[in-house]
Amino acid sequence: MILMVADGTGFAHYSMLLANNQNMKVFNKFDQSCLYNTSPTTNTNTSHKLPIVTESAQSASNLSTGKWNTRYSICMTKNKKHQPFGQKVKKKLKNHKVGLIVSTDISDATPAAFFCNAHDRGESSNIKKQLDNFEFDYCCAENLPTNRQKNHFNYKRTKCGLSKKIKNCLTQFKNDKFFLMIEESQIDKESHANDMPKTIKELNNLSCTVKSVFESIPNLKHPVTFILLSDHATGSILIQNNLKETFSEAKFNSDDHDHTLVPAFLYSNHKKNKLRLKPVCSMLDINNIMHKSLKII
Ligand SMILES: [Zn+2]
Repeated sequence: MILMVADGTGFAHYSMLLANNQNMKVFNKFDQSCLYNTSPTTNTNTSHKLPIVTESAQSASNLSTGKWNTRYSICMTKNKKHQPFGQKVKKKLKNHKVGLIVSTDISDATPAAFFCNAHDRGESSNIKKQLDNFEFDYCCAENLPTNRQKNHFNYKRTKCGLSKKIKNCLTQFKNDKFFLMIEESQIDKESHANDMPKTIKELNNLSCTVKSVFESIPNLKHPVTFILLSDHATGSILIQNNLKETFSEAKFNSDDHDHTLVPAFLYSNHKKNKLRLKPVCSMLDINNIMHKSLKII
């Protein structure tokens, strides 16, 4: 299974990509999509600065554990630890290889929520220490500890972001069952900065990454499910009626996360056991994704 997080990417971002880039065609390869909710609807104690807006650690932890986690924590509710997705896979699916490919620091919220527990997402030395107890079969991130060598790569920014590493990893995993998590993390960052040209550039990297996954899938021995989703949307982008052929008519209206529904895309070549996301415009909470995913891997 391949689970990919596009940090901060709301449906307005996809509309921007569509208006600016032919690579959007690669998204046609997904066979289902839905919109889902990333913010707590029942428990306002687990919120971002605004009660209905989430942040990446909480959202990634919800995705990883299937629970509404405490804000800014990594896979925690108050003093209770919840088993992160990566550990769950390692324990339950011993014959699976586990990979992580992200364009950010290994201790950042989304990668951290894959393998550790922490009261605060800022505890980077604690998070990195827990990395010692977790064995990736393939890992690419910024600032990996130097004691890690075989199949561990420090991420360096290149054209088309993560594509080379994804192809490399999927070549290594091609005969195995595996769980690979990918994060394109820079769309969120550029949206916080309200930098539209750089946001578009990062959206192009997202297309490139998706393309490289689909190009690798035919080489895989086992059936695979590929989910692309967002942890939240960032920037409250407003696309005005007169959007023509450029992105100049779209405007950021905030430098923070917003609480719009975000898209999830699904591809699966499993013959029988196909994951069914609810159709477009239904409400699907982010923590349900984990439960549904575990059923099919
Ligand atoms: Zn953010």
